[in-house]
Amino acid sequence: MSVEQAPVQRADFDQVMVPNYSPAAFIPVRGEGSRVWDQSGRELIDFAGGIAVNALGHCHPALVKALTEQANTLWHVSNVFTNEPALRLAHKLVDATFAERAFFCNSGAEANEAAFKLARRVAHDRFGSEKHEIIATVNSFHGRTLFTVSVGGQPKYSDGFGPKITGISHVPYNDLEALKAQISDKTCAVVIEPIQGESGVVPADKAYLEGARKLCDAHNALLIFDEVQTGVGRTGSLYAYQHYGVTPDILTSAKSLGGGFPIGAMLTTTDLAKHLAVGTHGTTYGGNPLACAVACAVLDVVNTPETLAGIKAKHERFKARLEKIGQQSGLFTQVRGVGLLIGCVLSDAWKGKAKDILNAAEKEGVMVLQAGPDVVRFAPSLVVEDADIDEGLARFERAVAKLTQG
Ligand SMILES: *Cc1c(COP(=O)(O)O)cnc(C)c1O
Repeated sequence: MSVEQAPVQRADFDQVMVPNYSPAAFIPVRGEGSRVWDQSGRELIDFAGGIAVNALGHCHPALVKALTEQANTLWHVSNVFTNEPALRLAHKLVDATFAERAFFCNSGAEANEAAFKLARRVAHDRFGSEKHEIIATVNSFHGRTLFTVSVGGQPKYSDGFGPKITGISHVPYNDLEALKAQISDKTCAVVIEPIQGESGVVPADKAYLEGARKLCDAHNALLIFDEVQTGVGRTGSLYAYQHYGVTPDILTSAKSLGGGFPIGAMLTTTDLAKHLAVGTHGTTYGGNPLACAVACAVLDVVNTPETLAGIKAKHERFKARLEKIGQQSGLFTQVRGVGLLIGCVLSDAWKGKAKDILNAAEKEGVMVLQAGPDVVRFAPSLVVEDADIDEGLARFERAVAKLTQG
């Protein structure tokens, strides 16, 4: 028996929701592949991908199947028991990466929280309490819990919430000399996004990551890669560390891992994992059968040579067209990024106006993202059809033309 639902509108948001978001004027109600429909039945092409989450677009048949089968089998048992989907997912991640152990949680912030706690615990156990300093990079983003905003270090996210977590310093991104100057025997971990996502889609230099690896080894510090945005095929490799050929000690994954179902993971080695002994850390929902069943299905589709090669080909398709749009309109000076995490860097005349471009794009029926005020970001489905790329970029081009021609 279906119960009649009360109608709701965008205006309700301002009545009943905490005002920490400022959502678009329309409400998406249905999605299929890379297309989304709003309440009025208007169709949009989705190049936002739920902020690099909907790795296989909307309602991918393999994910719908995994979720509904699991929904009819077992939803939740807590970590008082283990469950089959969690063990299968851990096997898949261990088989596909450097890692030997997995810890599951529900978000990117929680995965990083676990990573930072593990790094501090390892240093504490092996070297004593003095060794607890974490080095992060300027303009990094690691989530919104108090520990992760403190590590992220951006005042707009971390100020005004009382005392911050201490023992954290920040060095400029892609600056090996700065890292070398800051790292010491008190450093327990260095955390880096292989591509800075939120602050502008800035890829690391290979030499930077290689140098960071060496510095960490020289100072008994752990190298943490925050792959919450870059992981699960986004770069055309399963994880960005594989693209760069630099292996971290701890890797965090979330966003695309669940393809839209909430899940996060911290991956590490057996030797490090043993420091999170029984009772040291935990979460009620982490490793929930529903989330793990869906994530298994995501990995089965993404981690194939065809899908990964497709991501690289789609990158070229996006890049070529976007560069042309940028040149013709004078809107952006550079198209950067790897795989299907692409940033268009706005020209001086358009600096600070990424939000205006998002709004113009939405009016033409294409959803894109910003990455800070100066970069328009694309994080579409990893299996977006070429026809959808072409149609979505045609809409984007129309939006840009309208904006630049007044
Ligand atoms: C999105 C993101 C996070 C936070 O993930 P949540 O699921 O929002 O907690 C952390 N790190 C990076 C690099 C991200 O892009």
